This record gives sequence, C-alpha cells and structure tokens, in this order.
Amino acid sequence: MMVKVSRNIQMVDLVGQYEKIKTEIDSAIQEIILSARFINGPAVKEFQSDLEKYLGVKHVIPCANGTDALQIAMMALGLQRGDEIITSNFTFAATIETIAFLGLVPVIVDVDTDTFNIDVKEIEKAITSKTKAIVPVHLFGQCADIEPILALAKKNNLFVIEDTAQAIGADYIFSDGKKKKAGTIGNIGTTSFFPSKNLGAYGDAGALFTNDDELAKKCRMIVNHGQSTQYFYEMLGVNSRLDSIQAAILKVKLKYLDGYALSRNKAATFYDKAFAGNKNIKTPSRSKNSSHVFHQYTLVLNGVDRNKLKEHLASKEIPAMIYYPVPLHSQKAYRNAVNEGKKYPVTDKLCASVISLPMHTELDEETLKYITDSVLEFTK
Ligand SMILES: *Cc1c(COP(=O)(O)O)cnc(C)c1O
Repeated sequence: MMVKVSRNIQMVDLVGQYEKIKTEIDSAIQEIILSARFINGPAVKEFQSDLEKYLGVKHVIPCANGTDALQIAMMALGLQRGDEIITSNFTFAATIETIAFLGLVPVIVDVDTDTFNIDVKEIEKAITSKTKAIVPVHLFGQCADIEPILALAKKNNLFVIEDTAQAIGADYIFSDGKKKKAGTIGNIGTTSFFPSKNLGAYGDAGALFTNDDELAKKCRMIVNHGQSTQYFYEMLGVNSRLDSIQAAILKVKLKYLDGYALSRNKAATFYDKAFAGNKNIKTPSRSKNSSHVFHQYTLVLNGVDRNKLKEHLASKEIPAMIYYPVPLHSQKAYRNAVNEGKKYPVTDKLCASVISLPMHTELDEETLKYITDSVLEFTK
C-alpha cells in the first residue's frame, strides 16, 4: 500500500536538516552579529583551517561562490586570452562560463556513459599546441578519473583545475590504493557552498584548494582586489570574500559532512535496490576509482517518456529534476567554444534521458518507498 507522507517531499530538504542543528547554528550566527566582524572575521579563518584539516590540503582560500572560485583559479594560473581549456560537455554552465568570460577558449569534450564524468580518451584527442588546462568536473558526487588526467597533463604540460562543486568530501582512489579528497589532487580545486550543495551555506559561498604556496598566495590576493597588503595592488583582482556568518554556518555543518554523505548513500542504496532489474531504468554506476557522495541520484531512462514520468511524479507531489537538459555545445552563449563539427553522442543521449530524484540528508524509508513505488508504477 502506498502511504502519502505528511511533509512535502523536496529535492533537497534544508529546513529538515537545519532543525537538527538549530541550536548550534543559531548561536553561531548570533555570535557573529554580536562581534560585528562580518567580513574577514575570525570565523572565516577558523572554517578555513577546519576545512584544510578535513581535506588534508595545505591551503583553503575561501571566496564568495563556486563560479568566482573557478574564475580566480584561472586568473591565478595566469591563463591568457586564446588559451584552450578542455572541459566536460555535461556539467553546470558555470564551469564553461568562467572560461569564456576570461576570453579563454572552451574546448568541450564528451563524457563517459556510466559515470557521466569527462571521458579521458576524448581529452587526449582534444589536446592541441594551444591547450593550457583541463577542468574535470566531479559530477553528481563522484570523482572524474583524475589519475590518467594527471598523467596527460604532465605529458603535455597542462594545468588541472578540479571543479569540486558537487563532490566535496568524495575520495579519489589511486591505482596503488592511496586516497585523496576530491579537489586536492590537481594544481588547484574549486568548490561551491551554494545552499543545495553537499556542504551548503545559507547563502552564496565558495572556496579554492591547493597545495601550492605560490598559487595560494595569488588566490588570496585576487579574492581581495589583488592587494598584497592594504592599498598595495600587485595584480588585477576581484572582490570575492566569504562573509563571516556563512563561514560560521559552514564550520558547524562541516562536522556533519561525512554523516550527511552516509545518509545520502543510504538513500541511494534504497533507490538502487528498488530499481534493480528494471530494464527501463539504469541506476547510477559507482566508479571503482571513487567514493560517491551523491550530490544527485540520477537515473538514465530507456523507453520511458521522461516528461510524462515527471508529470506523474508531480501529480503525487514528488519533485524530479533534469540535470542537464541541454548540452553545452548547443548553448547560444558558448559559440566561441571549439566544438564545430564535433559529435557528442553520450552527452546528447544523457541530456535526453536522465532524471534526478529527490536526494538529501533527511529522506526516511517511508518517503523513499513512496517515491520508488511511484516511479515503478509508471515504468513497469
Ligand atoms: C554549483 C556549481 C558551480 C557554481 O557554484 P556557485 O556557487 O553557484 O557559483 C560550478 N560548477 C558546478 C559543477 C556546480 O555544480
């Protein structure tokens, strides 16, 4: 029997999550207000240092959002107008937007059918004498295959910028069994603390990660108008600071990040089991090189009318989202991208057939059963 759950089902339940840590969060916010240290207060340094420890990385540079983080990384690496930057066709627009915004040339490549992450063979084919960097995106919570990407980068003298907006806390597993956190492996990593991300602030926020002292120094200058010390401008910068209230919230939530990943994995396993053996539904595959933190739980449908399924779910008050409906190579804004005449069969197929189900830290079994029963009722 299908039981209608009392609370509205959401893609991400941030209020439910807040209720469990309300006392801690409220007092952290209060403390900032009473200190009146809203910008660059001690809370920013504290969060920075906690995150450095958690990630096992030398430098975390907080900034205003994940899009800025990408832009700051490319500025700090000294990338120049006309340089070619290789990235994935199947990602959130910010990844390619920042490349195009800086006058760099986005070179879009296809992705792997199973992991949805950038296809290393396609990167290799796209490298030219103008290529300067690769931007792998760790999509939906799982690491791109970074070890062979690093090898390609080394051979061709390229920078690697990891877009970790969707995979903070995920472990990449190297062929020798060693593990490193997503975003700490290439020259520089970027992340977003947008509220719905796995480590979400209550507003906009982001950060860069690097083990390179020089690069960290440059990033710290760029986020603060290119200043080395106050009123001495060494390089062109921007204003991209993390405010103290967000830092205080993130400091509290960082303690729960691994627990949150566990809850997300439990929900994913429930979904997997419910859909196992259904020939119309392909559940997300797990890469052998990465843990999964399930930013999204994304199905690939086969022979199912996606819009009708979405409507069916909506009629039962179950939200579902399409990440992403349109490939980047066919977006009007990115016409300067190098993709002319190129074919993207995997991205095209995914954009036409993926659907993401509610995925967050507060899903109980009753809700999960209601969701999976409702999907199965339509796809049988
Ligand atoms: C969310 C996201 C960004 C941008 O982060 P904002 O904080 O929203 O600017 C960049 N890349 C990817 C892959 C994202 O998912």
